[in-house]
Formats: sequence, structure tokens, C-alpha cells
Amino acid sequence: MPEDKPLTRYRGRFAPSPTGPLHFGSLVAAVGSFLEARSRGGEWLVRMEDLDLPRSVPGAADDILRTLDALGLHWDGEVMVQSARNEAYSAALAELERLDAVYPCACTRKEIADSALSGIDGPVYPGICRAGLPAGRAPRAMRVHIDSRPVGFDDALQGRISQILAMEVGDFVVRRADGLFAYQLAVVVDDAEQGITHVVRGADLLDSTPRQIYLQKLLSLPTPAYLHLPVAVNQRGEKLSKQTLAPAVNRISPVVQLCEVLAFLNQAPPEKLKDANLDDFWKWAIARWHVDRLPAVRSRSLSGV
Ligand code: GLU
Repeated sequence: MPEDKPLTRYRGRFAPSPTGPLHFGSLVAAVGSFLEARSRGGEWLVRMEDLDLPRSVPGAADDILRTLDALGLHWDGEVMVQSARNEAYSAALAELERLDAVYPCACTRKEIADSALSGIDGPVYPGICRAGLPAGRAPRAMRVHIDSRPVGFDDALQGRISQILAMEVGDFVVRRADGLFAYQLAVVVDDAEQGITHVVRGADLLDSTPRQIYLQKLLSLPTPAYLHLPVAVNQRGEKLSKQTLAPAVNRISPVVQLCEVLAFLNQAPPEKLKDANLDDFWKWAIARWHVDRLPAVRSRSLSGV
């Protein structure tokens, strides 16, 4: 019997925010998503998440792409750039308006903080503007109505995740008070546009996934499979990031750094792999990539930082 061919080819992605150079934490997501795609004969796309222009650092996007290239993390097709996609996000918002799934909200951060319970990702929006804007108040953000049903999914590494958005998040923002589209909306529109079948990223985004699935369902978009990798933290338990002064990935000794990522992901690279050239490194890494060896934890400390 011929083997059943999957209907869609595996298509993964790496979606960095250009807030600074690539560092160990973001390299883990890049390498994990790349190896999972390549070891399954799939494609690997890159998307520059520069939607939050106020947080973007000039030159960081180019710098990240140059580093990926220097490390042999070669992507397929064109890099998608979020700052050029406002029309697509506007169309998705218009669709949500047509479905009566969103409403304008006049609340300031302070008003919300004063009356909200704290949830999984900041205050749970208490629904002040749900039934309409209070008299005399101007709209600021757009929020999506959520319901009280649990939203769940099976993460390929972290297991079953389920959230009741009403209790843990509340009606969430899809267009911010500063007029920018929210990450949650943009990521859903872009993953669908790029035909992403598998999302492999850091577990800091695990709690965002139910919001994304909720939007996918509203917009009748497919839900990709998810795998959330452990996030690298320092000895104080802080995520490695620009804020915690994580050192940038250098382009001079790619293989040594890539071996550190493989070790962090429990792929047991042999000591001598550090001396391999990039091609041999990737051959080894793609052939020996085992999802079942990945540490099934949300964070993992990196010794020495
Ligand atoms: N741009 C996000 C970040 O750098 C990742 C978003 C995603 O992978 O969905 O944290």
C-alpha cells in the first residue's frame, strides 16, 4: 500500500521582533523551528514582527537577517514584514466588525487597573465598555468579545493547554489606543497568509495561543499545530532578552553557539561537533533532531548567565 501523502506540506516559521540583535533566547526559537521544519522535509519562513514600531530598533531587522544567514539558518521565500501589512489587518478587523465580534473601548490603563482582577497576562478586562461607550467618552482601543467556553489545544511538547478567556484574559485588544494593530490579531492573519502549518516558538507565548485560536475560529482561519519550546532564563529566572542584557549572537563562531542551543534543547551534541563546519553541523543536527528529547518545561536556566 502506498503511504498516505499529507495534504499540506509542513510549513514552519520564525517571527522575530526587531527590538535588538538576535540573542541566545531568540536563537533557541530560530533553531528549534528550523530543525523541526527541515527534519520533516518542510519549509521554513521568516516574518519580521516590526508592527510595534515604537519598540523597533532601526537596523535590528537587517542585523537579525544577516545573523540568521551567517549561522546557516536559510529561509524559504521572501521575508514577510508586518509594517507593510496594515491593509490585511484592517480587513480582518472589518470582518470582526461585520461579525459584531468587536467593540470600541474608552478605558485608560489606569481605569482598568483600578477595577480589574489580575489574570494570566495583566489585568482581566472587566467589561466596562462591552455594552457601549459611557456617555461623553471617545473610543480608544478595539476589543474582541470573548465567551465563557474553554479554549484548548494539544501542544506537541507542553501537553494539553486550556484557558477560559473570560476568567484569565477578558475581552482583549485587537487594535490598540495608539492605532496599532495588536500582536494577537497580526500573528493570526500572518500565519494564515503564509500558510503556516506548524508554529514552533518560545513558551513565553503559550498563554497567548488560546487568544490566537479564538481569533482563528472567529475569522474562519485554520489553526496550526503548536510546539512551545522552553524559554532560556538567567539564574534569577528572568527571560533572556534585551532588557536582561542577554549578549548578542555573534557571526564569528556560529557552530559553537549553535551547539549550545542544541545542548539547551537536550539534543546531546557530541563535544567534537563544535569543530565542525556549518554544513556538517546542520547535517548532523537535522539528522539527529528528536522532539521526544526536548525538555517539556516552560523555562530552563542557562548556566553561566
Ligand atoms: N515576535 C514574537 C517574539 O519575538 C514571536 C511571535 C510568534 O512567534 O508568534 O517574541
